[in-house]
Amino acid sequence: MRGDSESRHKGYAIGRQWGYMSANDILELEDRNPIAGGDVYLVPLNMVPADQAGRLLTDGGRFLANGDEKRLLPEATETRALETLVRLKRAHAPVFEDAARRLLKREADTIERQFRRQAERSLADFLEWLRQFYEGFGATAAQAMTPALMSYGAAVATEAAQQVDAEPPEMDQFVSSYAGAYAARHTRDSQQAIEAIVADSPPQELPERLGNTLQAWRTERPAQVARDETEQAANAFARFAWVAAGVKKLRWIVVGPSCPLCEELNGRVVGIQLGFLAAGDVVTGGGKRISAGKTLHPPLHKGCDCMILPA
Ligand SMILES: [Zn+2]
Repeated sequence: MRGDSESRHKGYAIGRQWGYMSANDILELEDRNPIAGGDVYLVPLNMVPADQAGRLLTDGGRFLANGDEKRLLPEATETRALETLVRLKRAHAPVFEDAARRLLKREADTIERQFRRQAERSLADFLEWLRQFYEGFGATAAQAMTPALMSYGAAVATEAAQQVDAEPPEMDQFVSSYAGAYAARHTRDSQQAIEAIVADSPPQELPERLGNTLQAWRTERPAQVARDETEQAANAFARFAWVAAGVKKLRWIVVGPSCPLCEELNGRVVGIQLGFLAAGDVVTGGGKRISAGKTLHPPLHKGCDCMILPA
């Protein structure tokens, strides 16, 4: 009996891995109840040579085998749609980087000045100043990024709406709230980074370590912000335009050099309001594991450049 069960499960694993069985197909064979989101067929990425990764954009649908999914976009149009969004991303990245560089320089200079002034006498006073500084800095950060986000929002929404023959929605309010969310992420990351350095550094090394981090904020972090935020915002803005246009379902698509975690989501189709992952969901792949929280759209993680399209 054990052997039977073992080979059965091996068969299921292969079926699931190669994309011809969904979780619910397997549960049905085991006389068990279906689970929410269990009707998804995974796309077997390892069947496609790496140099043809771009072709996945069009081949993905073939493996989904969801007969009842009416796809809004024919496949050639879909590839063009993704290429256009990627082009918009690249075109706007320098604008994001420029805005982030000015913001981060101002932030780093202010912290460095205050550290010199205060930290010798009392580190506790400096940390208290830091806490107050970041209470107010969110508004500055939101303001600094808003022009870049506004023009990006208009461009992405126009393109996304056009893909489904709709008028682009009014974006200003959504972009403003996005800028607020960005500012919250930015200030949280910054404050935690400085607090960690203060907590972890021996006193004699603290000035140098802090100085190095602040220097990286001026030099390297602006490009990271540009990369992360053009990715994140493209998906958020496109999704917003598609919700406004009445699109019901979205599909997750791996675009760049894929990672095992993203591959796990590649091709997944979900209701646009439901999202790809619920809070508490865990994604595993290639020995890695991530608990991403509620995920309405990519990125799954930092550096992820997956995209979504109407399914
Ligand atoms: Zn990804």
